[in-house]
Amino acid sequence: MFSIWEQQALLRFDVIIVGAGIIGLSAAIELAEREPKCSIAVLERGPFSSGASTRNAGFACFGSLTEIAADIDRIGVEGALQVIDARRAGLELLRKRVGDRNLEFEMFGGYELLFPEQISALDHLAEINALLKPMFATQVFRPADAAIAKFGFNQKAVAAMLFNPLEGQIHSGKMVAQLMKLAAERGVRIITGAEVTAVADGAEIATVDCRFGVNQPATFAAGQLILCTNAFTSTLLPDVPITPGRGQVLVTSPISGLAIRGAFHFDEGFYYFRNVGDRVLFGGGRNLAFAEETSHELTLNNAIQERLEELLRTVILPEKHFQIEHRWAGIMGFSSTKLPIVQRAGNRVAVGFGCNGMGVALGSSIGRQLANLVLGSPVQK
Ligand SMILES: Cc1cc2nc3c(=O)[nH]c(=O)nc-3n(C[C@H](O)[C@H](O)[C@H](O)COP(=O)(O)OP(=O)(O)OC[C@H]3O[C@@H](n4cnc5c(N)ncnc54)[C@H](O)[C@@H]3O)c2cc1C
Repeated sequence: MFSIWEQQALLRFDVIIVGAGIIGLSAAIELAEREPKCSIAVLERGPFSSGASTRNAGFACFGSLTEIAADIDRIGVEGALQVIDARRAGLELLRKRVGDRNLEFEMFGGYELLFPEQISALDHLAEINALLKPMFATQVFRPADAAIAKFGFNQKAVAAMLFNPLEGQIHSGKMVAQLMKLAAERGVRIITGAEVTAVADGAEIATVDCRFGVNQPATFAAGQLILCTNAFTSTLLPDVPITPGRGQVLVTSPISGLAIRGAFHFDEGFYYFRNVGDRVLFGGGRNLAFAEETSHELTLNNAIQERLEELLRTVILPEKHFQIEHRWAGIMGFSSTKLPIVQRAGNRVAVGFGCNGMGVALGSSIGRQLANLVLGSPVQK
């Protein structure tokens, strides 16, 4: 039971965005900047973003050599370059919007570790560098074998290394906190603890059923509804082709004399680690159990956690003493083509998803494309 005042001013908006991750908040900021008179609300089920945006590793990256080679095999050169360019543009937009200091952006560069069975990836080095040169105006991937000893990795296990000077790393919690602040400053109402249970499209308006706290229901209405619910979109719109993929990380205790600085990947990006000050954050391993990790559950898989810990102790930090002090999981969303998807899902409903594990870079691009779609202008990067 709601008063007429509540119905008119608190439950009805020009645009409602569901999901306060990087895509939802970027779309809200973009819309508020371009249409300041538009009333905009973001409905988020958690106390803040509660999917991937605050649970990731904070790599500001656009793809390692083995990952790009795998993408070229899957979606062709044109598709792979298109997605890399959207990541490049998105990262540029995020840095401009939030600011490097607010993001705690650190430009230590990115590295890829190649194990003996992956050494043939180097056959693609010249070709992929040539493809990327027009976009980045520099040689992106450079041999860096001396880094194996410099960072203290197991020299018997790691056969070669590559360096990419264009990658950086951020503090993901601060990124989302700043995006929430920017959205609120532009008049966006962010309503947390609001779990959307159903959406309905209509000729004039779209409606959103919501559950608050202990089953307190409310129905919101909007001229335009945008779902930025990542892997959870399929629970509201079952026909939207997005597949969940759970990602897990662990973080060590502070390690004295830690040499590791930068964003490191291996195995087509299925594993990734970085320094967080003098700690190491290590994540991945989804490829060890694809079926089990196609999950919406924010729980840990012990077998994957054990494998991460083993690789950390034997390959990445073989000489160091440390404990594991933090572990968590987050849920990514994968599109079938590896390309981001921004599209209408009805008269009054749009969806934007498909960061495919690289939302720090892609999220702002997708937010801008959603604003373009909703405001009716041509979709552009
Ligand atoms: C462990 C891990 C490591 C990663 N590492 C990196 C990395 O280093 N670099 C990188 O670029 N990317 C990384 N990613 C991927 C990146 O975090 C995502 O691509 C990105 O955050 C997706 O943003 P999003 O806005 O689409 O989704 P999300 O951040 O998942 O936001 C969706 C939001 O919708 C909300 N929601 C869902 N359903 C409902 C509902 N019914 N009602 C209300 N709200 C709802 C969720 O609570 C969530 O806040 C990683 C992901 C994980 C899980």
